[in-house]
Amino acid sequence: MAIHYYCRHCSKSIGKLSDWEADDQMLGFNQLTDEDRKEMIECDSQGHIQVKVICEDCERTLQENPDYHAFESFIH
Ligand SMILES: [Zn+2]
Repeated sequence: MAIHYYCRHCSKSIGKLSDWEADDQMLGFNQLTDEDRKEMIECDSQGHIQVKVICEDCERTLQENPDYHAFESFIH
């Protein structure tokens, strides 16, 4: 099992953790509500965990253009 982080807006891969590097507590998943976990965390067909976050580029874009927050995906 591995944990992949990727950007929810541009789908850029941000990082990867193998299972021994990460547990729920360390990642802070235990502080999320069930709804947040469902929204952010997906398991693929191989049992790998995919976590949707925001990359630095998109974060900067969002800071400069707060209106884009209304759109789930604004980069194509
Ligand atoms: Zn991005």
